[in-house]
Amino acid sequence: MILAVINRVRSYGLALFVGVALSIVVNAEAQTKKLKETRPANELSHLQEEFIKATREYKTSLAKLLAIYERNLNRAEEKLAQSQKLYAEGLISKNQLADNETAIANAKDKINEGQRQMANADAQIADTLVEAQAEAQMAKTLLRKGSLLRTTSYIRYSGAGTWALSDAWKVQRFFLDSFKKQLPVGVFGQGAIHDLWRLDHRNAMDVSVHPDGPEGQLLMNYLRSNGISFLAFRAAIPGTATGPHIHIGRPSHRF
Ligand SMILES: [Zn+2]
Repeated sequence: MILAVINRVRSYGLALFVGVALSIVVNAEAQTKKLKETRPANELSHLQEEFIKATREYKTSLAKLLAIYERNLNRAEEKLAQSQKLYAEGLISKNQLADNETAIANAKDKINEGQRQMANADAQIADTLVEAQAEAQMAKTLLRKGSLLRTTSYIRYSGAGTWALSDAWKVQRFFLDSFKKQLPVGVFGQGAIHDLWRLDHRNAMDVSVHPDGPEGQLLMNYLRSNGISFLAFRAAIPGTATGPHIHIGRPSHRF
């Protein structure tokens, strides 16, 4: 009896000790987490990690979608083969055969669109990341209209003019006239990744031009003299395949 009581007291004591120890560990963890969240120096690298992780997730989901689209295409092709036989035997109409051909064309369109999104994923991720970084910077330093901000990673110009994506042809024509080649547009307007992160990229486009090269310099001069806002990204983001580019239009904001 006494032994049982002692044992019980011991186990209570142990439980109490374990409980206290656990709460110390939990509290310590909560405090480190809090410290991380409030430390601004870590903010950008943390953001970068998050975006790189999101790129991977985005590409994985695109790959899954592509596999579904390809299965749909296979099915549509099998169906067309059957329909062609039936049509040859006079069992279905020409319209029914045409429906099957349309289904194949639609399935192919979806695959092409998925492949295009996959190819643009890195460019879009890099763009949204630099925009998010610029936004974080902007929160600290307000940029006057018409002024230029240079950092080691980007150049930001806040234009006083009005810009809409429908004016893109002016920039394209300037580039074509100056360099006798098409402006290399990577992302035009809103992409799937912007939808995913609720970022407004409807009035912007991204061009694969290095801001420190002669084309980039002349392009940025043109944008500035026309009061068109831009964000020029000078370096590649580690962990993505994307190099420098220029985002034309105001930085994306969250919906
Ligand atoms: Zn952009």
